[in-house]
Amino acid sequence: MADQAGPIPVAQPVLAAEEAEAAARAVLSGWVTQGPEVQAFEDEFAALVGAPHASAVSSCTTALHLALMAVGVGPGDEVATVSHTFIATANAVRHAGAEPVFVDIESGTYNIDPQRLEAAIGPRCRAILCVHQMGMPCDLDRVLAVAAAHDLPVIEDSACAVGSEIACNGAWEPIGRPRGAVACFSFHPRKVITTGDGGMLTTADPELDQRFRLWRHHGMSVPDIARHQSRKVIFESYPVLGYNYRMTDIQAAVGREQLRRLPEIVARRRVLAERYLALLADVDGLGLPEQPPFARSNWQSFCVLLPEGLDQHATMQAMLDRGVATRRGIMCCHREAPYRDVRRAGPLGRSEEAQDRGVILPLYAQMTEDQQDRVISALKEALAA
Ligand SMILES: *Cc1c(COP(=O)(O)O)cnc(C)c1O
Repeated sequence: MADQAGPIPVAQPVLAAEEAEAAARAVLSGWVTQGPEVQAFEDEFAALVGAPHASAVSSCTTALHLALMAVGVGPGDEVATVSHTFIATANAVRHAGAEPVFVDIESGTYNIDPQRLEAAIGPRCRAILCVHQMGMPCDLDRVLAVAAAHDLPVIEDSACAVGSEIACNGAWEPIGRPRGAVACFSFHPRKVITTGDGGMLTTADPELDQRFRLWRHHGMSVPDIARHQSRKVIFESYPVLGYNYRMTDIQAAVGREQLRRLPEIVARRRVLAERYLALLADVDGLGLPEQPPFARSNWQSFCVLLPEGLDQHATMQAMLDRGVATRRGIMCCHREAPYRDVRRAGPLGRSEEAQDRGVILPLYAQMTEDQQDRVISALKEALAA
């Protein structure tokens, strides 16, 4: 498909007849927003990651907003996080009325540098928001240790990390099995599985889960489905200020099919990532992504660091001219207008370098080895040009 229709894309969701039929099933049921499909999707997601509670919402951004509020973040507070992330991470902190404080990353993993985290924690810090960037688990043990020393809750921005695993006391656990207070996932099409748009919160704390369920549905005391199924007349109440952050049943029905595909999608992505690592190992000066011993990535994105002095834009254009689409490295929030003046816990040089020298290569489950070979050739030719 990519061969005739245009360049090899950076990403491509795996969507087929099963998802279309699931969406049709929800439509034809007559129940189209938060109802039985959402409940089933939550149960299946919770079982998959091994979380006691999972609640579905409209996106990861809204999930992060609720998670931050639930752990007590509000106006006047600070939240320690990274600048090198999609802007939604920082936006969610602002939505909660708080200010982010930016910490630099480690090169190779593109994740928060735990050594620099301490410097971000001042008297107003109320939470740590760490990111498993591009699906690579961050050093959660060290982040949790810093958090424990300061008695701070940890929220995991796991937007990209469904299907990723992290070692916990020597055993592999899926991201989303509660380690911090809350983990937040995205089902945007650019992630590994998709519901069009959508998000999920997992937690071990039943009180937090109850708050998410109240907030996402206008603060309404009784879910629609409970009123619908009741043989008795129920009057609802609105004990708190709420939001409309619901996922629809159409999205959830699609999501359930995507969950079934997840193991296969992640396995294929891992094969392709290993292949990139092997076939690019001999390219002079090229920085390859690093997977620490405690991490197993789902390889949501595969980002290489161009050799020093190379023109990022020209290299990407040369690859596009050879029929291969790429994206530059993950953005830095502190370079965007809303975040230029926020507090930084030290220099953000590695974050800036990752944006300026990073190139995200095509990686998706349907990619053939032939297509991958063409990406590698295009990259090598662009580097030589
Ligand atoms: C995609 C992404 C988000 C936002 O997810 P949405 O579901 O689009 O709101 C947040 N954080 C990170 C790190 C992301 O990659």
